[in-house]
Amino acid sequence: MNRIFEFMSGRNGNDQLGLALLVVALILNIIFRMTGMYLLGIAAMALVLIVLYRMFSRDLAKRREENRRFLSLWSDAKRSFAEWRLRRSQSRDYKFFVCPGCHNRLRVPRGKGKIQITCPKCGQRFGGKS
Ligand SMILES: [Zn+2]
Repeated sequence: MNRIFEFMSGRNGNDQLGLALLVVALILNIIFRMTGMYLLGIAAMALVLIVLYRMFSRDLAKRREENRRFLSLWSDAKRSFAEWRLRRSQSRDYKFFVCPGCHNRLRVPRGKGKIQITCPKCGQRFGGKS
């Protein structure tokens, strides 16, 4: 146990990106076993190699930066998904627009016909059908 600990000191070890890549590799491997699609098997293998490489890597700054970028992408994806679900749950009563000026998302009650929309964030006006 001590030897392993010594060996791993100064190395990146496991992080969230490594865990996520392992999960993807596992899923690819399952699909590969079900379908026999060789490319998926190779991709799963390559991912495992990448995970091992990152675990034993001594370039901590680079690995941490990769992990940080992954975490920020992941939280963006989670936020987009939550917003999408919220929009879906309100889509019966509201119509959603994206402001052409600042890409702000706007919510308008449905059933008002053709309307002029003014973006509260940047003041841009544009037409839409609710
Ligand atoms: Zn705007």
